[in-house]
Amino acid sequence: MKKFIKSLLEKKKKPLQYWHLRGIHTASYGVCSDNYCPCPQVTIPRGEGYIYIVKYEDGRFSANLTCEIGARKRNLNLKIAHNDAKYWWETGLVPFRETPTYKGFQEAPYISSISVKEQENIRKEQKEETLRRLDAIIGNKGDEND
Ligand SMILES: [Zn+2]
Repeated sequence: MKKFIKSLLEKKKKPLQYWHLRGIHTASYGVCSDNYCPCPQVTIPRGEGYIYIVKYEDGRFSANLTCEIGARKRNLNLKIAHNDAKYWWETGLVPFRETPTYKGFQEAPYISSISVKEQENIRKEQKEETLRRLDAIIGNKGDEND
């Protein structure tokens, strides 16, 4: 039992592992490389932006730099995604873990490129899209009157 608890504690203490993400983290700017983002691949100044990390079923990770709109459309935890971006700009490294998502409205962790109203609109659109997806999974045709 002691051994078991000890192994649990060791597991908990294990620091986050990082991997090297392709891309020029030493450049003066990057571009939004989020396929899901509707922006025209806006430029992201050095040290800014958000990184979203995805883990695939085969256990591999992918990570991309995205702008605020893309990050909001994915419901990313903006603070964590921005800290990951800052760390990547400094080191070229990103952690071996998915970017957590966030429920509800969140303020931008640094100067926002879009108005609060736009931020709230994106959140509402996302909420509706999530509900539509859920409906499609459940097979509920709904009573939408558009
Ligand atoms: Zn974008």
